[in-house]
Amino acid sequence: MTFQQVYGYEPAVQYSAPGRVNLIGEHTDYNDGYVLPFAIDRRTTASIAPREDRVLRVASAFDTDNPPVSLSLDELAPDRMDGWSAYVLGIAWALREQAGADLSDKTGFDVFIESDVPVGAGLSSSAAIECGVALAFNDLWELGLDRKSLARVGQYSENHAVGAPTGIMDQSASLLGEQDAVVFLDCRTLDTAVVDLALEANGLEVLVVDTRVEHAHATGGYKARRDSCERGAAAMGVEALRDLSVDDLHRAQELLDDETFRRVRHVVTEDQRVLDTVRTLREHGPRAIGSLLVASHESMRDDFEISVPELDLAVTTAMEHGAVGARMTGGGFGGAAIALVDQEARGAIADAVTAAFAAAGYREPNVFTVHAAQGARRD
Ligand code: ADP
Ligand code: MG
Repeated sequence: MTFQQVYGYEPAVQYSAPGRVNLIGEHTDYNDGYVLPFAIDRRTTASIAPREDRVLRVASAFDTDNPPVSLSLDELAPDRMDGWSAYVLGIAWALREQAGADLSDKTGFDVFIESDVPVGAGLSSSAAIECGVALAFNDLWELGLDRKSLARVGQYSENHAVGAPTGIMDQSASLLGEQDAVVFLDCRTLDTAVVDLALEANGLEVLVVDTRVEHAHATGGYKARRDSCERGAAAMGVEALRDLSVDDLHRAQELLDDETFRRVRHVVTEDQRVLDTVRTLREHGPRAIGSLLVASHESMRDDFEISVPELDLAVTTAMEHGAVGARMTGGGFGGAAIALVDQEARGAIADAVTAAFAAAGYREPNVFTVHAAQGARRD
């Protein structure tokens, strides 16, 4: 389906924004810590035409059974949006509500969404749709917001219009990503730096293994981990776990119960691994970060306990077949793992993982390569 088929005329402009993969830094975002995602070469496109009236109409190739959803700019409110259309309409609402944009004299749009970002695979199809739309509305309404502000608008919309309690990592990656580079984000200050990944020059690629395991415990498990982190920070007398360093772990072990201690140890060491990865990338290049990726996986498996057997099998199989590094990525309890691999070894490693899943009786994984790509743009 196309814009033309839905609305009966051609769109005026097209914007797109990518999904993302987090290279390292898991469950550090809500602890005010560090993350290191990159935008990927899978994008969501918003084809748009301005209207004369104040109506927003939205349709998606993802939902061809229903007619476009319509809402007037005078009716923008979270309780007027539901389903996937809230990811688009919520942006207009958040531009007004969070960024203070004056929409009183603006006209509406017809919007059509298409995407090759897999939904729910942990690659943030949600940020891809939010950020493409945010950049488009900002340009077309001439609001003059910068990309960091648009990332906050996307997060605000996801938190309050969609109702998902997520951090700002995904939107930052989708808006600030650059080709063959990672986005280093300090989740407390929201300072960002683009760091060269240089995979191409080093003959490397990132393989994604989507286990297709649904995040069955994702909601409950995520909340339990957040609670443990808050408890740990309070007991240690700091505002957030970001304020602890590896040297504080001795004291943490004496003070905390074993489970809370292991949750804290994951976050504190993971923050350090992000800093080490940034330094290593700058000083020695991507081939040197493999052991940090593996240590991150082990910490999530043993200390934070958010891995599943499928993710562990993907990581160990990739490593046994020559990957430079590998780890689960995303919130855990399912979803995807990544492996940093030599371009020539990609096929063999992908085959080995698929074979290992078959031998274990697991559902066939979806294995594909991603490249670090440019963030949201007008096409
Ligand atoms: P993830 O971000 O990991 O892919 P989320 O649950 O955060 O998973 O976001 C997925 C939701 O985003 C979908 O259920 C849908 O509501 C919305 N969405 C993503 N891509 C599209 C699309 N192309 N068209 C319509 N809605 C989309
Ligand atoms: Mg998401």
